[in-house]
Amino acid sequence: MANITVCVRFRPLISSEKKLHGESTCIQALDAQSFAFQDEKGEDAIFCFDKAFYQDSDQVEVYDFLAMPIIEGALNGINGTILIYGQTGAGKTYSMEGPSVLDEDQKKKGLLPRVVDGLFEGMKSFSELTKWTVKLTMVEIYMDKIRDLFDVSKDNIQIKESKCQGIFLSGATEMLITNAVEALRCLHRGISNRAVGETQMNVASSRSHSLYIFSVQQESVTDGRSKIGKTVLVDLAGSEKTEKTGAVGTLLEEAKSINKSLSALGNVINALTTGKVNHIPYRDSRLTRILQDALGGNSRTGLLCCCSPCLTNASESLSTFRFGARAKLLKSSPRTNILDAKDDKEQTTDSQIQVYEHAVTILDKMEEITTCQTPVCTYETLLEKLRQNLSDENVDMLERLFKQEGLIFVPRTVEELEAAIQDVREKTISALQQKIEKFRDANIELRRVNHALQAELAIAREVAQKVADPVANAPWFHKIMKSFASYVPFI
Ligand code: ADP
Ligand code: MG
Repeated sequence: MANITVCVRFRPLISSEKKLHGESTCIQALDAQSFAFQDEKGEDAIFCFDKAFYQDSDQVEVYDFLAMPIIEGALNGINGTILIYGQTGAGKTYSMEGPSVLDEDQKKKGLLPRVVDGLFEGMKSFSELTKWTVKLTMVEIYMDKIRDLFDVSKDNIQIKESKCQGIFLSGATEMLITNAVEALRCLHRGISNRAVGETQMNVASSRSHSLYIFSVQQESVTDGRSKIGKTVLVDLAGSEKTEKTGAVGTLLEEAKSINKSLSALGNVINALTTGKVNHIPYRDSRLTRILQDALGGNSRTGLLCCCSPCLTNASESLSTFRFGARAKLLKSSPRTNILDAKDDKEQTTDSQIQVYEHAVTILDKMEEITTCQTPVCTYETLLEKLRQNLSDENVDMLERLFKQEGLIFVPRTVEELEAAIQDVREKTISALQQKIEKFRDANIELRRVNHALQAELAIAREVAQKVADPVANAPWFHKIMKSFASYVPFI
């Protein structure tokens, strides 16, 4: 288990801040990791993170420290996530994109173009017998709905989970990218689609979470083994409080939605780091559900906390430091994602499919039973209660399903229990959907083979016909018949 990497970055003061407070700031650098902070009331605190990037820091330093290890991981089949957190105007998008993803200023280039370079440059150090497939998905979460930035008509993408892919966005566009130039063009296109949303629907990018997902698959030509590493970069919505912005109407609704998802993020982090809670509320928001792997799961995770160094923003900066300090306690367990034939088989054993198929109906019944029970029941008492209503065989099957999905826990409240049931239900449905997709693919493949066979059969029939009647089909026979016809008109 590894702790996540947490860094803090202070952007330079902007002119409006300088007008108010001159060059003075609320932080004082102590070393490359720690700094002293003083709030508006003059209260001091010292904070220490894995790295503190001060106002004069370069974009490349952030990439080298935070993203490079994650990109190396992606090239070796290890998932990675970089989250950028902070109040609006604190430098999140600048750190992520730079002035623009297409800007060629080497000094100002943000994380995204550097990640693209890192991936395609990194591939060169591998054997020529490695086949690479890189795909890019871009979505934004706005008002707790996931929108595809490559196809704006897909505005309510669902999150699914599978054993082999982990958490994934069902139906989201995956752009195949074969080189860095193409990748930057795609990123630019996705980012412009976000801007289109801004004018049409008054969505400022700072009021939605932007997610950039690179999936890097390598296959060894020699032994056919594959590894897949997913890198997720997240430019989170601004973390400022609603009261401070004085938002009303749509703006207020947006702010509430942001606060809800960011507090869900905080709650998940709290639940994971206090060690007392059995159920982690990943499902409380789309954001936390997508980030489930990044938060304590199969992913190397880095967090960049962006802050303004100005005294005006001291309270927002303080809450950002606190968020970072809490997140630092998170532990994750990244592993190499190896795809091989065995994994595939494990996914689709007949008994597992039977369990899944039957489970959907049982879970419906189970929900009816459990929602009318009083809370606080242990796993064993829950199964006991179920036995009163369901057959032993069905309860055994549910128990297997719970164990298989690692969901044995002591639910403390009805909500926790319902969330766990919902977990199993979604996993079950997702497994079934995958099965259907596999059947559909197999069906398409069978039709294709059938067509090809029918065409071959037609050719074979023609040949057989010719072989069976060689004289009638022979060209010399036709020639003779023609010349006879000129002498004997009735032929
Ligand atoms: P956020 O995405 O957090 O709302 P932005 O990235 O848009 O904030 O930054 C706000 C402003 O500050 C922008 O004009 C941006 O160019 C500038 N800025 C942010 N960080 C830096 C930095 N490290 N160096 C120079 N300018 C920066
Ligand atoms: Mg921004």
